[in-house]
Amino acid sequence: MQKMILIKYGELTTKKDNINLFLRTLQQNISKKLEQYNPQITYDKGRMFIKASEEKFTKIIEDLQEVFGIHEIIICYELNTIDLEQIENELLNILNNKSFQTFKVETKRSNKKINQTSIEISSKIGSFILKNKENCKVDVHTPEICIHLELRNTKSYIYFESIKGLGGYPVGTLGKGILMLSGGIDSPVAGFMTMKRGVKIEAVYFESPPHTSTEAKNKVISLAKILNKYNLDLKLHVIHFTEIQEAIYKEIPHEYLITIMRRMMYRITERIAKKANAKILINGESIGQVASQTLTSMRAINEVVQLPVIRPLACFDKLEIIELSKKIKTYDTSILPFEDCCTIFVPDHPIINPDPKLCEQYENLIPYEEMISTAINKHEIIKINNKEKNDYEDIL
Ligand code: ATP
Ligand code: MG
Repeated sequence: MQKMILIKYGELTTKKDNINLFLRTLQQNISKKLEQYNPQITYDKGRMFIKASEEKFTKIIEDLQEVFGIHEIIICYELNTIDLEQIENELLNILNNKSFQTFKVETKRSNKKINQTSIEISSKIGSFILKNKENCKVDVHTPEICIHLELRNTKSYIYFESIKGLGGYPVGTLGKGILMLSGGIDSPVAGFMTMKRGVKIEAVYFESPPHTSTEAKNKVISLAKILNKYNLDLKLHVIHFTEIQEAIYKEIPHEYLITIMRRMMYRITERIAKKANAKILINGESIGQVASQTLTSMRAINEVVQLPVIRPLACFDKLEIIELSKKIKTYDTSILPFEDCCTIFVPDHPIINPDPKLCEQYENLIPYEEMISTAINKHEIIKINNKEKNDYEDIL
Protein backbone atom coordinates (compact mmCIF):
# COMPACT_ATOMS: atom_id res chain seq x y z
CA MET A 1 0.00 0.00 0.00
CA GLN A 2 1.36 3.42 -0.95
CA LYS A 3 0.12 6.91 -0.08
CA MET A 4 0.04 9.32 -3.00
CA ILE A 5 -1.80 12.27 -4.47
CA LEU A 6 -4.58 11.73 -6.95
CA ILE A 7 -5.83 14.42 -9.29
CA LYS A 8 -9.21 14.64 -10.97
CA TYR A 9 -9.58 16.76 -14.08
CA GLY A 10 -13.24 17.72 -14.20
CA GLU A 11 -13.94 19.81 -17.26
CA LEU A 12 -11.09 18.21 -19.17
CA THR A 13 -12.99 15.03 -19.66
CA THR A 14 -15.45 16.81 -21.97
CA LYS A 15 -12.68 17.70 -24.44
CA LYS A 16 -12.57 14.30 -26.09
CA ASP A 17 -10.56 15.14 -29.21
CA ASN A 18 -7.87 17.08 -27.44
CA ILE A 19 -7.59 15.00 -24.35
CA ASN A 20 -4.02 13.86 -25.01
CA LEU A 21 -2.78 17.41 -25.47
CA PHE A 22 -4.60 18.46 -22.31
CA LEU A 23 -3.18 15.67 -20.22
CA ARG A 24 0.35 16.03 -21.57
CA THR A 25 0.29 19.76 -20.88
CA LEU A 26 -1.17 19.30 -17.41
CA GLN A 27 1.53 16.77 -16.60
CA GLN A 28 4.24 19.14 -17.86
CA ASN A 29 2.80 22.07 -15.91
CA ILE A 30 2.59 20.01 -12.74
CA SER A 31 6.14 18.65 -13.17
CA LYS A 32 7.47 22.16 -13.54
CA LYS A 33 5.48 23.48 -10.60
CA LEU A 34 6.63 20.62 -8.36
CA GLU A 35 10.18 20.39 -9.73
CA GLN A 36 11.82 20.80 -6.31
CA TYR A 37 9.96 17.77 -4.90
CA ASN A 38 11.14 15.36 -7.57
CA PRO A 39 7.72 13.81 -8.08
CA GLN A 40 6.83 10.84 -10.23
CA ILE A 41 3.73 11.62 -12.27
CA THR A 42 1.64 9.15 -14.21
CA TYR A 43 -1.79 9.45 -15.73
CA ASP A 44 -4.55 7.78 -17.65
CA LYS A 45 -7.71 9.18 -19.20
CA GLY A 46 -9.48 9.72 -15.89
CA ARG A 47 -6.86 10.34 -13.23
CA MET A 48 -3.36 11.60 -12.58
CA PHE A 49 -1.19 10.18 -9.81
CA ILE A 50 1.67 11.95 -8.08
CA LYS A 51 4.16 10.02 -6.02
CA ALA A 52 6.56 11.98 -3.82
CA SER A 53 7.89 11.90 -0.33
CA GLU A 54 5.00 12.01 2.11
CA GLU A 55 6.29 14.77 4.36
CA LYS A 56 6.12 17.13 1.36
CA PHE A 57 2.42 16.50 0.71
CA THR A 58 1.17 19.68 2.43
CA LYS A 59 3.47 21.88 0.36
CA ILE A 60 2.73 19.95 -2.81
CA ILE A 61 -1.01 20.37 -2.32
CA GLU A 62 -0.58 24.11 -1.82
CA ASP A 63 1.33 24.29 -5.09
CA LEU A 64 -1.22 22.16 -6.93
CA GLN A 65 -3.88 24.65 -5.90
CA GLU A 66 -2.16 27.09 -8.24
CA VAL A 67 -2.33 24.85 -11.30
CA PHE A 68 -5.19 25.29 -13.75
CA GLY A 69 -6.89 22.19 -15.12
CA ILE A 70 -7.15 20.46 -11.75
CA HIS A 71 -10.62 19.88 -10.41
CA GLU A 72 -9.89 17.95 -7.23
CA ILE A 73 -6.76 17.08 -5.26
CA ILE A 74 -6.93 13.99 -3.10
CA ILE A 75 -4.57 12.12 -0.81
CA CYS A 76 -5.16 8.46 -1.51
CA TYR A 77 -3.87 4.98 -0.77
CA GLU A 78 -2.96 2.80 -3.72
CA LEU A 79 -3.40 -0.93 -3.25
CA ASN A 80 -1.84 -3.44 -5.64
CA THR A 81 -4.96 -5.54 -5.71
CA ILE A 82 -8.61 -5.53 -6.69
CA ASP A 83 -9.42 -8.49 -4.49
CA LEU A 84 -12.14 -7.37 -2.09
CA GLU A 85 -10.93 -9.35 0.90
CA GLN A 86 -7.45 -7.95 0.65
CA ILE A 87 -8.91 -4.47 0.22
CA GLU A 88 -11.04 -4.89 3.34
CA ASN A 89 -8.03 -5.81 5.45
CA GLU A 90 -5.95 -2.91 4.17
CA LEU A 91 -8.90 -0.57 4.71
CA LEU A 92 -9.24 -1.70 8.28
CA ASN A 93 -5.57 -0.82 8.89
CA ILE A 94 -6.17 2.65 7.52
CA LEU A 95 -9.34 3.14 9.54
CA ASN A 96 -7.55 2.19 12.76
CA ASN A 97 -6.00 5.65 12.73
CA LYS A 98 -9.31 7.40 12.26
CA SER A 99 -12.05 8.00 14.74
CA PHE A 100 -15.62 8.41 13.53
CA GLN A 101 -19.09 7.34 14.44
CA THR A 102 -20.88 7.43 11.12
CA PHE A 103 -19.65 6.54 7.65
CA LYS A 104 -20.66 5.51 4.19
CA VAL A 105 -18.85 3.69 1.40
CA GLU A 106 -18.89 4.85 -2.21
CA THR A 107 -17.46 2.59 -4.86
CA LYS A 108 -16.48 3.29 -8.46
CA ARG A 109 -15.54 0.51 -10.79
CA SER A 110 -13.74 1.38 -13.99
CA ASN A 111 -12.89 -2.30 -14.30
CA LYS A 112 -16.16 -3.73 -15.57
CA LYS A 113 -14.83 -7.28 -15.44
CA ILE A 114 -15.58 -7.32 -11.74
CA ASN A 115 -18.96 -8.97 -11.64
CA GLN A 116 -20.42 -7.24 -8.58
CA THR A 117 -22.02 -3.80 -9.02
CA SER A 118 -20.65 -0.75 -7.25
CA ILE A 119 -23.59 -0.77 -4.86
CA GLU A 120 -23.01 -4.43 -3.97
CA ILE A 121 -19.34 -3.78 -3.31
CA SER A 122 -20.11 -0.73 -1.13
CA SER A 123 -22.57 -2.67 0.93
CA LYS A 124 -20.19 -5.65 1.33
CA ILE A 125 -17.39 -3.35 2.52
CA GLY A 126 -19.84 -1.45 4.74
CA SER A 127 -20.92 -4.66 6.50
CA PHE A 128 -17.29 -5.63 6.96
CA ILE A 129 -16.53 -2.33 8.68
CA LEU A 130 -19.60 -2.59 10.91
CA LYS A 131 -18.44 -6.04 11.99
CA ASN A 132 -14.82 -5.10 12.57
CA LYS A 133 -14.80 -1.55 13.85
CA GLU A 134 -16.49 -0.73 17.12
CA ASN A 135 -19.07 1.97 17.75
CA CYS A 136 -19.82 3.05 14.25
CA LYS A 137 -22.84 2.97 12.01
CA VAL A 138 -23.80 3.78 8.46
CA ASP A 139 -25.28 7.16 7.57
CA VAL A 140 -25.77 7.60 3.83
CA HIS A 141 -26.92 11.23 4.04
CA THR A 142 -24.52 13.07 6.37
CA PRO A 143 -21.74 10.65 7.29
CA GLU A 144 -18.78 11.86 9.29
CA ILE A 145 -16.49 10.18 6.80
CA CYS A 146 -17.11 8.95 3.29
CA ILE A 147 -14.90 6.06 2.28
CA HIS A 148 -14.25 6.22 -1.46
CA LEU A 149 -13.08 3.09 -3.17
CA GLU A 150 -12.06 3.04 -6.83
CA LEU A 151 -11.35 -0.24 -8.54
CA ARG A 152 -9.26 0.09 -11.66
CA ASN A 153 -7.49 -2.53 -13.82
CA THR A 154 -5.11 -4.16 -11.38
CA LYS A 155 -5.07 -1.62 -8.59
CA SER A 156 -7.54 -0.03 -6.25
CA TYR A 157 -7.60 3.31 -4.50
CA ILE A 158 -8.99 4.38 -1.15
CA TYR A 159 -9.51 7.98 -0.13
CA PHE A 160 -11.66 10.14 2.11
CA GLU A 161 -11.68 13.85 1.36
CA SER A 162 -10.90 15.95 -1.64
CA ILE A 163 -9.56 19.50 -1.88
CA LYS A 164 -10.95 21.80 -4.53
CA GLY A 165 -8.60 22.71 -7.39
CA LEU A 166 -8.72 25.86 -9.53
CA GLY A 167 -10.58 24.20 -12.41
CA GLY A 168 -10.22 25.63 -15.92
CA TYR A 169 -7.85 24.26 -18.56
CA PRO A 170 -4.09 23.65 -18.28
CA VAL A 171 -2.19 26.81 -19.18
CA GLY A 172 -0.84 26.52 -22.72
CA THR A 173 -3.48 24.21 -24.15
CA LEU A 174 -5.25 27.08 -25.87
CA GLY A 175 -2.14 28.85 -27.15
CA LYS A 176 -0.72 32.18 -26.14
CA GLY A 177 -1.98 35.73 -25.52
CA ILE A 178 -0.36 39.05 -24.63
CA LEU A 179 -1.73 40.71 -21.51
CA MET A 180 -1.55 44.50 -21.25
CA LEU A 181 -0.48 44.67 -17.62
CA SER A 182 -0.70 48.02 -15.86
CA GLY A 183 -0.19 48.49 -12.14
CA GLY A 184 -3.95 48.77 -11.65
CA ILE A 185 -6.52 46.45 -10.17
CA ASP A 186 -8.14 45.25 -13.38
CA SER A 187 -5.45 43.90 -15.64
CA PRO A 188 -3.98 41.24 -13.28
CA VAL A 189 -7.49 39.88 -12.79
CA ALA A 190 -8.01 39.83 -16.57
CA GLY A 191 -4.74 37.88 -16.85
CA PHE A 192 -5.81 35.36 -14.23
CA MET A 193 -9.15 34.75 -15.94
CA THR A 194 -7.56 34.21 -19.33
CA MET A 195 -5.00 31.80 -17.94
CA LYS A 196 -7.86 29.88 -16.39
CA ARG A 197 -9.15 29.20 -19.89
CA GLY A 198 -5.82 27.58 -20.81
CA VAL A 199 -4.13 30.58 -22.42
CA LYS A 200 -0.44 31.04 -21.68
CA ILE A 201 0.36 34.69 -21.25
CA GLU A 202 3.20 37.07 -21.77
CA ALA A 203 2.70 40.58 -20.40
CA VAL A 204 3.47 44.01 -21.76
CA TYR A 205 3.91 47.09 -19.60
CA PHE A 206 4.23 50.66 -20.89
CA GLU A 207 6.39 52.90 -18.76
CA SER A 208 7.18 56.58 -19.18
CA PRO A 209 10.20 57.49 -17.11
CA PRO A 210 10.77 60.04 -15.66
CA HIS A 211 7.01 60.66 -15.49
CA THR A 212 6.61 57.20 -14.01
CA SER A 213 8.84 55.88 -11.25
CA THR A 214 10.90 52.76 -10.69
CA GLU A 215 8.43 51.92 -7.93
CA ALA A 216 5.63 51.86 -10.49
CA LYS A 217 7.63 49.40 -12.58
CA ASN A 218 8.50 47.27 -9.56
CA LYS A 219 4.84 47.15 -8.70
CA VAL A 220 4.09 45.70 -12.14
CA ILE A 221 6.92 43.19 -11.68
CA SER A 222 5.35 42.16 -8.36
CA LEU A 223 2.00 41.67 -10.04
CA ALA A 224 3.68 39.66 -12.77
CA LYS A 225 5.22 37.46 -10.07
CA ILE A 226 1.82 36.69 -8.66
CA LEU A 227 0.56 35.75 -12.12
CA ASN A 228 3.72 33.72 -12.63
CA LYS A 229 2.54 31.26 -10.02
CA TYR A 230 -0.07 30.07 -12.49
CA ASN A 231 1.93 30.53 -15.67
CA LEU A 232 5.55 29.64 -15.01
CA ASP A 233 8.32 31.49 -16.90
CA LEU A 234 6.21 34.54 -17.58
CA LYS A 235 7.90 37.10 -19.81
CA LEU A 236 7.28 40.77 -19.11
CA HIS A 237 7.91 43.11 -22.05
CA VAL A 238 8.62 46.62 -20.83
CA ILE A 239 8.05 49.30 -23.45
CA HIS A 240 9.70 52.67 -23.07
CA PHE A 241 6.73 54.84 -23.96
CA THR A 242 8.01 58.31 -22.99
CA GLU A 243 8.82 59.68 -26.47
CA ILE A 244 5.52 58.55 -27.94
CA GLN A 245 3.54 59.88 -25.02
CA GLU A 246 5.34 63.23 -25.02
CA ALA A 247 4.86 63.61 -28.78
CA ILE A 248 1.14 62.91 -28.41
CA TYR A 249 0.94 65.38 -25.54
CA LYS A 250 2.71 68.05 -27.55
CA GLU A 251 1.02 67.67 -30.95
CA ILE A 252 -2.48 66.32 -30.45
CA PRO A 253 -5.62 68.04 -29.08
CA HIS A 254 -5.82 67.06 -25.45
CA GLU A 255 -9.29 65.60 -25.53
CA TYR A 256 -7.86 62.90 -27.86
CA LEU A 257 -4.75 62.16 -25.76
CA ILE A 258 -6.03 58.99 -24.15
CA THR A 259 -7.69 57.62 -27.28
CA ILE A 260 -4.54 58.03 -29.35
CA MET A 261 -2.27 56.83 -26.58
CA ARG A 262 -4.31 53.66 -26.31
CA ARG A 263 -4.29 53.15 -30.06
CA MET A 264 -0.47 53.28 -29.86
CA MET A 265 -0.46 50.77 -27.00
CA TYR A 266 -2.67 48.43 -28.99
CA ARG A 267 -0.45 48.69 -32.06
CA ILE A 268 2.68 47.94 -30.05
CA THR A 269 1.03 45.08 -28.17
CA GLU A 270 -0.09 43.53 -31.45
CA ARG A 271 3.43 43.76 -32.87
CA ILE A 272 4.76 42.00 -29.75
CA ALA A 273 2.01 39.39 -30.06
CA LYS A 274 2.85 38.61 -33.66
CA LYS A 275 6.54 38.22 -32.81
CA ALA A 276 5.71 35.95 -29.88
CA ASN A 277 3.29 33.91 -31.96
CA ALA A 278 0.41 34.91 -29.71
CA LYS A 279 -3.13 34.77 -31.01
CA ILE A 280 -4.90 37.35 -28.86
CA LEU A 281 -4.42 40.57 -26.92
CA ILE A 282 -5.86 40.71 -23.41
CA ASN A 283 -6.62 43.73 -21.25
CA GLY A 284 -8.57 44.82 -18.20
CA GLU A 285 -11.04 47.11 -19.94
CA SER A 286 -14.57 47.19 -18.59
CA ILE A 287 -17.46 48.78 -20.47
CA GLY A 288 -18.11 52.31 -19.29
CA GLN A 289 -15.41 52.35 -16.58
CA VAL A 290 -13.68 55.47 -17.97
CA ALA A 291 -13.95 57.66 -21.08
CA SER A 292 -11.68 55.36 -23.10
CA GLN A 293 -13.96 52.42 -22.34
CA THR A 294 -17.23 53.64 -23.79
CA LEU A 295 -18.38 51.51 -26.72
CA THR A 296 -17.49 54.27 -29.21
CA SER A 297 -14.04 54.62 -27.65
CA MET A 298 -13.48 50.89 -27.66
CA ARG A 299 -14.37 50.75 -31.34
CA ALA A 300 -12.06 53.66 -32.22
CA ILE A 301 -9.20 52.08 -30.27
CA ASN A 302 -9.82 48.52 -31.39
CA GLU A 303 -9.79 49.33 -35.08
CA VAL A 304 -5.99 49.71 -35.24
CA VAL A 305 -5.41 45.98 -34.62
CA GLN A 306 -6.45 42.79 -36.34
CA LEU A 307 -5.88 40.23 -33.60
CA PRO A 308 -8.87 39.59 -31.34
CA VAL A 309 -8.86 41.60 -28.12
CA ILE A 310 -10.14 39.62 -25.15
CA ARG A 311 -11.59 41.67 -22.31
CA PRO A 312 -12.50 39.20 -19.57
CA LEU A 313 -13.80 42.02 -17.35
CA ALA A 314 -15.88 43.79 -19.99
CA CYS A 315 -19.13 43.18 -18.13
CA PHE A 316 -17.93 43.23 -14.52
CA ASP A 317 -18.61 45.95 -11.96
CA LYS A 318 -15.58 47.44 -10.27
CA LEU A 319 -16.65 45.91 -6.94
CA GLU A 320 -16.78 42.46 -8.48
CA ILE A 321 -13.30 43.00 -9.93
CA ILE A 322 -11.98 44.13 -6.55
CA GLU A 323 -13.40 41.02 -4.93
CA LEU A 324 -11.62 38.83 -7.48
CA SER A 325 -8.36 40.72 -7.08
CA LYS A 326 -8.50 40.10 -3.34
CA LYS A 327 -9.12 36.42 -4.00
CA ILE A 328 -6.09 36.09 -6.25
CA LYS A 329 -4.04 38.28 -3.89
CA THR A 330 -3.10 41.01 -6.35
CA TYR A 331 -5.22 43.69 -4.65
CA ASP A 332 -2.75 44.82 -1.97
CA THR A 333 -0.05 45.36 -4.59
CA SER A 334 -2.42 46.99 -7.10
CA ILE A 335 -3.46 49.68 -4.66
CA LEU A 336 0.10 50.80 -3.86
CA PRO A 337 0.13 54.50 -4.77
CA PHE A 338 2.61 54.68 -7.66
CA GLU A 339 1.65 56.67 -10.72
CA ASP A 340 0.97 54.83 -13.95
CA CYS A 341 1.76 56.47 -17.30
CA CYS A 342 -1.95 56.94 -18.13
CA THR A 343 -2.81 58.84 -15.00
CA ILE A 344 -0.08 61.43 -15.56
CA PHE A 345 -1.28 62.44 -18.98
CA VAL A 346 -5.01 62.37 -18.25
CA PRO A 347 -6.70 65.46 -19.74
CA ASP A 348 -9.50 67.31 -17.94
CA HIS A 349 -12.09 66.37 -20.54
CA PRO A 350 -11.21 63.19 -22.43
CA ILE A 351 -13.50 62.56 -25.37
CA ILE A 352 -16.10 59.86 -24.84
CA ASN A 353 -17.19 59.60 -28.48
CA PRO A 354 -13.96 59.76 -30.47
CA ASP A 355 -14.19 59.95 -34.26
CA PRO A 356 -11.89 57.35 -35.88
CA LYS A 357 -11.25 59.66 -38.88
CA LEU A 358 -10.06 62.42 -36.56
CA CYS A 359 -7.87 59.89 -34.72
CA GLU A 360 -6.09 59.10 -37.99
CA GLN A 361 -5.76 62.76 -38.84
CA TYR A 362 -4.23 63.62 -35.47
CA GLU A 363 -1.94 60.61 -35.46
CA ASN A 364 -0.44 61.75 -38.73
CA LEU A 365 0.88 64.78 -36.88
CA ILE A 366 3.54 62.54 -35.33
CA PRO A 367 5.91 60.00 -36.96
CA TYR A 368 4.31 57.22 -34.99
CA GLU A 369 5.31 54.24 -37.18
CA GLU A 370 8.94 55.12 -36.70
CA MET A 371 8.51 55.76 -32.99
CA ILE A 372 6.72 52.44 -32.53
CA SER A 373 9.52 50.57 -34.32
CA THR A 374 12.12 52.26 -32.13
CA ALA A 375 10.17 51.44 -28.95
CA ILE A 376 9.87 47.81 -29.98
CA ASN A 377 13.50 47.48 -31.03
CA LYS A 378 14.81 48.68 -27.71
CA HIS A 379 12.24 47.15 -25.41
CA GLU A 380 13.32 45.29 -22.32
CA ILE A 381 12.30 41.70 -21.61
CA ILE A 382 12.17 40.65 -17.98
CA LYS A 383 11.99 36.94 -17.28
CA ILE A 384 9.93 36.78 -14.14
CA ASN A 385 11.26 34.60 -11.40
CA ASN A 386 9.78 34.39 -7.95
CA LYS A 387 13.04 34.02 -6.09
CA GLU A 388 14.21 37.65 -5.96
CA LYS A 389 12.14 40.11 -3.96
CA ASN A 390 11.37 43.74 -4.67
CA ASP A 391 12.23 46.20 -1.89
CA TYR A 392 8.74 46.63 -0.49
CA GLU A 393 7.40 43.08 -0.87
CA ASP A 394 8.09 42.27 2.77
CA ILE A 395 5.73 44.95 3.97
CA LEU A 396 2.78 43.66 1.96
P1 ATP B 1 -6.37 48.60 -14.36
O1 ATP B 1 -7.44 48.70 -15.40
O2 ATP B 1 -5.47 47.43 -14.53
O3 ATP B 1 -6.92 48.76 -12.98
P2 ATP B 1 -6.00 51.20 -14.98
O4 ATP B 1 -7.37 51.37 -14.47
O5 ATP B 1 -4.90 52.12 -14.64
O6 ATP B 1 -5.48 49.83 -14.56
P3 ATP B 1 -7.21 51.64 -17.44
O7 ATP B 1 -7.01 53.04 -17.71
O8 ATP B 1 -8.53 51.15 -16.96
O9 ATP B 1 -6.07 51.09 -16.52
O10 ATP B 1 -6.77 50.86 -18.74
C1 ATP B 1 -7.46 49.78 -19.24
C2 ATP B 1 -6.51 48.62 -19.56
O11 ATP B 1 -5.46 49.05 -20.42
C3 ATP B 1 -5.80 48.10 -18.34
O12 ATP B 1 -6.61 47.18 -17.65
C4 ATP B 1 -4.61 47.43 -18.96
O13 ATP B 1 -4.94 46.18 -19.53
C5 ATP B 1 -4.27 48.39 -20.10
N1 ATP B 1 -3.24 49.37 -19.64
C6 ATP B 1 -3.43 50.61 -19.14
N2 ATP B 1 -2.27 51.18 -18.82
C7 ATP B 1 -1.29 50.30 -19.14
C8 ATP B 1 0.14 50.30 -19.05
N3 ATP B 1 0.82 51.32 -18.57
N4 ATP B 1 0.79 49.22 -19.49
C9 ATP B 1 0.12 48.15 -19.96
N5 ATP B 1 -1.20 48.09 -20.06
C10 ATP B 1 -1.92 49.15 -19.69
MG1 MG C 1 -9.25 49.97 -15.37
